[in-house]
Amino acid sequence: MQVPLLDLKAQYATIKDEVLAAVSEVLESQQCIGGPKVAELEEKVAALSDCKFAVGVSSGTDAILNSLMSLGIGQGDEVITTPFTFFATVGCIERVGARPVFVDIDPKTYNIDPSKIEAAVTDKTKAIMPVHLYGQVAEMDPIMEIAAKHNLAVIEDAAQSISSTYKGKKSGSIGTVGCFSFFPSKNLGGIGDGGMIVTNDEQLYNQLFIMRNHGSKPKYYHKFVGGNFRLDPIQAAALLVKLPHLDDWSEGRRRNAAYYNEKFEGTAVQTPYINPDCVTIYNQYVIRVPKRDELIAHLREKSIGCEIYYPVPMHLQECFSYLGYKAGDFPESEKAANEVMALPIYPELTDEMKDFVTEQVKSFLSFN
Ligand SMILES: *Cc1c(COP(=O)(O)O)cnc(C)c1O
Repeated sequence: MQVPLLDLKAQYATIKDEVLAAVSEVLESQQCIGGPKVAELEEKVAALSDCKFAVGVSSGTDAILNSLMSLGIGQGDEVITTPFTFFATVGCIERVGARPVFVDIDPKTYNIDPSKIEAAVTDKTKAIMPVHLYGQVAEMDPIMEIAAKHNLAVIEDAAQSISSTYKGKKSGSIGTVGCFSFFPSKNLGGIGDGGMIVTNDEQLYNQLFIMRNHGSKPKYYHKFVGGNFRLDPIQAAALLVKLPHLDDWSEGRRRNAAYYNEKFEGTAVQTPYINPDCVTIYNQYVIRVPKRDELIAHLREKSIGCEIYYPVPMHLQECFSYLGYKAGDFPESEKAANEVMALPIYPELTDEMKDFVTEQVKSFLSFN
């Protein structure tokens, strides 16, 4: 039996006619930039996220980049974030000329440890960027308290967590801005790249909106330098077809997670810890196991997809060596990078597939 890590063809089969019709509508209109589909998606994602405003952008990366630029963060500034994340979080901080300052993670949730943030604040700190890893919102109350005390912006990297909640609040709506990604493997994935920024701050919204189009306002007059961060209407059209399914798909992932959790009870598998204040969307189902690399080899041999998110923490990436961090600086992030692995969790998994995955994990563990 083959169990891929993610099977987008299975999802597409359920919505194919609608996606084709929606994309065709854009093509027939030949409104290939901006237009009603982008505006409608912005309205709907803002509503879904309990935010007043949303700006569609070209990717999750550009959502973060635009946010940093619109907040005026650049040369000489510091941004506090986690080293245990996808590269884009930190790459964007570096690209605006600011300095990434890392704070280790909570080993249970894999999110930034709020108790370690304040020690990293300096007079150069401009923002905190928590990442809601694997779909679970970071511990936002203490983060917002520290931010308020030191007058810092909070940029939520919510690329993996659209519609998940913390104390009933939607991810992306708690900080100054929230950044979503529509990369195809995210819970709400486009048919290519895309992203969205949400906020409740009208002035910031206006800045994000102008920044998305080269900082142009009025047309061909530029008060500042922006970029081409626009979301394609073809992406918006496909995403509008998928959006009504998002809750069902996330519920399917939670059901699969519960199924796995039960099967792994009493084994050496450390199943995901979910903060009781959070409802996660399980963008990934991540376990810790002894002999992780051998288990991955075993599962791949059995045609079961699995992956490490992420094998090298950002403070140990070659391109960030100039920051002067070294191995041992963030032990929990380094330990997680050596021990975690993601199993297939997508909603279309059948019971037979889940049983095959758990049986293969268990049989490996019993012989090793
Ligand atoms: C996917 C992701 C991004 C970047 O999103 P893209 O749409 O791929 O540019 C940023 N941060 C995190 C945590 C992500 O998972």
